Amino acid sequence: MREVMQSTKLSDVLYDIRGPVLDEAKRLEDEGHRILKLNIGNPAPFGFDAPDEILVDIIANLHQAQGYSDSKGLMPARRAIVQHYEERIPGVDVEDVYIGNGVSELIVMSMQALLDDGDEVLVPMPDYPLWTAAVSLAGGTAVHYRCDEASDWNPDIDDLRSKVTDRTKAVVVINPNNPTGAVYAPEVLEQIAQVARENDLIVYADEIYDKILYDDAEHTLMSAVADDVLCVTFNGLSKAYRVAGFRSGWMMLTGPKHHAHSYIEGLNMLANMRLCPNVPSQYAIATALGGRQSINDLLLPGGRLLEQRNKAYDLLTAIPGVTCVKPKGALYMFPRLDPEMYPIADDEKFAYELLREQKLLVVQGTGFNWPTPDHFRLVTLPRVEDLEDAVGRIARFLETYAA
Ligand code: PLP
Repeated sequence: MREVMQSTKLSDVLYDIRGPVLDEAKRLEDEGHRILKLNIGNPAPFGFDAPDEILVDIIANLHQAQGYSDSKGLMPARRAIVQHYEERIPGVDVEDVYIGNGVSELIVMSMQALLDDGDEVLVPMPDYPLWTAAVSLAGGTAVHYRCDEASDWNPDIDDLRSKVTDRTKAVVVINPNNPTGAVYAPEVLEQIAQVARENDLIVYADEIYDKILYDDAEHTLMSAVADDVLCVTFNGLSKAYRVAGFRSGWMMLTGPKHHAHSYIEGLNMLANMRLCPNVPSQYAIATALGGRQSINDLLLPGGRLLEQRNKAYDLLTAIPGVTCVKPKGALYMFPRLDPEMYPIADDEKFAYELLREQKLLVVQGTGFNWPTPDHFRLVTLPRVEDLEDAVGRIARFLETYAA
């Protein structure tokens, strides 16, 4: 039989968070090894249970959740999303809200509806790589603008501006950021909005970590600082409400929508084609947004997420040659390995070797479209004892790697 080949559409699409190193981890597990997995921001397996009321509401509504819903999602859930935002962003309407099977589905849809071959989208570097992959899958080109480690991983606005061309259609902002943990000040967002305004760009604001903030960090909605710019805001239940497996997220259009009739028609068609998002989990949206925000308990002094972020930071930065900007939000650390001390030529190979020798799974920095092999990402979800164990393994491994 003729070899079945993947489509050429996939030739530029990469998603290393679940890439080849994970396959090797599975192989090692099949051999009976226990692997410490610090590669995916999935709260539940680390003992972060969902708020009870979310589970109760889903179960209570299961019977009426058997059929398809409206293709944009259930009206009460979309209304709850509008109410959640309307004080800060006036004029949002239920028709501007699309519920999806996680933010992931909506990222792919939003790019498929926008891009023609060769269109460009400005994506941060490092990024959450689904954005780059979704741009490539839609035939576009992700042009990466630099976030500057020396300036708390803030976007380099000059670099961003210099990368706009006549093919640029949009700019992606991930705030709080995965993988760096940066949380952007309103002035930074205003500068990005200004670039968008001057060049007629859509802003895609991925704010899925907006409630996971440490110390005195505050989150500012991109759409609130740029109400004259077409903005698509993404958020969902996977992180703050700890139900990543229920696949529930939303996107919301704000700004001059009257200039986007054709794009909105495209989005509606794609929403129709996927029939509807998973219905049972839509019953959790109003409860999640309107209920007690138990995530806050985890972020206060003594709360698990804060204590783990602190512990991971203290332990990692105590290793010679390892530095890290302390995350202000999200669930990750993105440490730098001093290239003089650790001359890593290929960071995917580095991640493989760390896995084989120490049975510890992290993701290499180039998997986040970072250009040099001198970073990796780990999640700060494991309990303090497991983080101690994990960082101990990293330290032992780095000793063997040192120049
Ligand atoms: N956006 C960012 C920045 C993420 O880190 C993730 C998941 O890790 C997603 C989107 C995808 O979230 P969802 O589970 O809603 O598809």
